Amino acid sequence: MKTAFLCDERVFWHAGGNYAFTLPAGDLVQPMAGGLPENPETKRRLRNLIEVTGLLRELDATGADPATTEDLRRVHPADYLARFKALSDAGGGELGPRAPFGRGGYEIAALSAGLGIEALARVLTGRARNAYALTRPPGHHCLPDRPNGFCLLANGAIAIEAARAHTPGLRVAVIDWDVHHGNGTEAIYAADPDVLTISLHQDRNYPTDTGHASVRGEGAGLGANLNIPLPPGTGHRGYLAAFERLVIPALTRFRPDAILVACGYDAAAVDPLGRMLATAETFAQLARRTLDAADHLCGGRVAMLHEGGYSEAYVPFCGHAVLAEMAGSAIAAPDPLAATLAARQPDARFDAMINAHLSDLEGFFGLR
Ligand code: ZN
Repeated sequence: MKTAFLCDERVFWHAGGNYAFTLPAGDLVQPMAGGLPENPETKRRLRNLIEVTGLLRELDATGADPATTEDLRRVHPADYLARFKALSDAGGGELGPRAPFGRGGYEIAALSAGLGIEALARVLTGRARNAYALTRPPGHHCLPDRPNGFCLLANGAIAIEAARAHTPGLRVAVIDWDVHHGNGTEAIYAADPDVLTISLHQDRNYPTDTGHASVRGEGAGLGANLNIPLPPGTGHRGYLAAFERLVIPALTRFRPDAILVACGYDAAAVDPLGRMLATAETFAQLARRTLDAADHLCGGRVAMLHEGGYSEAYVPFCGHAVLAEMAGSAIAAPDPLAATLAARQPDARFDAMINAHLSDLEGFFGLR
């Protein structure tokens, strides 16, 4: 069985507003041709790189239907969807901070969510070895009634709820390794004991006021949310240590039926929206460990939904490394920055600080 690769040309047509990087243009801020960092090129170039190396031919490359209104209504209230659709039809605009869209943005967002639904469905029904959805716009910051941080619909939650509509009682673990806190997914599942949400993120990057380790869920969901804030500068060894010491033990304790990864690449060392030092090999190793854990815990059922990652040059190499692990492929796209980024990794003093931080979290989460 192959790895399913869910993609659609139209997700690259989603367009944002008049921005200069993350700043709304105007006053002293000159408009910038590229606009927001969340532009199509990172993801389009990943799609292109896997074609150029031949990896695409080892995948089951396919598309999906857009999420239906019924799919969206499981997560989002009708009035939010109505406001989104009306503004999209009227030419686009913004319904929340840093989440602009153009005409037709509603339909593209529904298509992006549909790719995620199909990725998880293929994994759960045994039609794919595992699955990767090239979702755009991304989803992990979106709240039920408010878009946020480039995210217009909560793709991950929409996929999980579509799966649970077919299979009540399904237990899903979400691993969010995007450099930003998965605040939307956390909020949606705060009180739900059957969805474990784990977010590894740069401490107080975005949003600046969420993602604290002390936020662990509420009510019946208490303990089913793990925030792992990491200091700026965390690199390859720090990410792997956090995975080994916290993420894998938390997965093992939870015993999911499937794992959904909010797969962002903005923890990469050259990303403009993160201050971390991960490399393409870091993401390959995170993928490898996730796949191995899934083999032990849930029949290898892993679906990845693409989230952030804003280095147009480097995201394709990170994504290629992840997809090659998922497919068990020998086809590689050698990391052109490997030597440079190896030389920039934090020193032993930083490692000692990270390990002390992870020890504290192990105790706090009861994972020791
Ligand atoms: Zn991000």
